[in-house]
Amino acid sequence: MKKITSLLWVLLICISIPNNLYAWGKKGHALVAEIGYTLLDSNTKLQVVKYLDGMSLSEAGNWMDNMRSDPRYEYMKQWHYVNIEKGNQYEETKEDNIINALNAAIGKLKNRQSLSDEEVKKNLLVVFHLVGDLHQPLHVGYGSDKGGNAIQVKYLDNSSNLHRVWDTDIIEGEKITINDCLLLYKNFDSAEIAQLKAINVERWIREPRSLLQNVYAIQDNNVIDQAYVDKNKKIIEQQLLIAGLRLSAVLEYVFKS
Ligand SMILES: [Zn+2]
Repeated sequence: MKKITSLLWVLLICISIPNNLYAWGKKGHALVAEIGYTLLDSNTKLQVVKYLDGMSLSEAGNWMDNMRSDPRYEYMKQWHYVNIEKGNQYEETKEDNIINALNAAIGKLKNRQSLSDEEVKKNLLVVFHLVGDLHQPLHVGYGSDKGGNAIQVKYLDNSSNLHRVWDTDIIEGEKITINDCLLLYKNFDSAEIAQLKAINVERWIREPRSLLQNVYAIQDNNVIDQAYVDKNKKIIEQQLLIAGLRLSAVLEYVFKS
């Protein structure tokens, strides 16, 4: 009976977890965290392991989404994205958005002498998650359609929305693996890698922003077909790789002694 009750709880908890409205799905964030960690130098790996304090990379990447319904973290709600209408450029603002949240967390980690280990961990989890989100084009998309959440589509034969297609459907449907992403590393020469890793959050939104034209190249009937999936799968793999690469750059920068 006890077993059945706990199983019921697990089921209930699973059912009550809301869809990830504003994030790479669980798998996407796990991939970014794992790629980022894989690319770290050994000293930074030790620091990350120390501060994560037993938390897995997948949990670290997904923590901000897992805490979404926790009222203590209500203030982080706007941190997952920035809205910039079509044709506009990002303009500096004091409002909460992914750029400001990420820059703030990086700044705090760099000057972490005054932080408790718990605060270091929290800012680390923010960095793990938001570097990932930043590279999903619909996290730097248009507020008018809620970053694609308001666009209902048919993904192959299933009902979905455009945001979800990019967060989750293609990554899971195409069974994208860490190796698929890491294999693309060879497409960049060392100068390009160095350029990609140069830390500049505002500049980092340019690529995902420019990818929005691919994202919105859907048929009039909003059917996402296999041709669309084939075309964009590599783009998603590349964005996951670049996100992981930049996550490693940020972590090495903040933990450099
Ligand atoms: Zn998110």
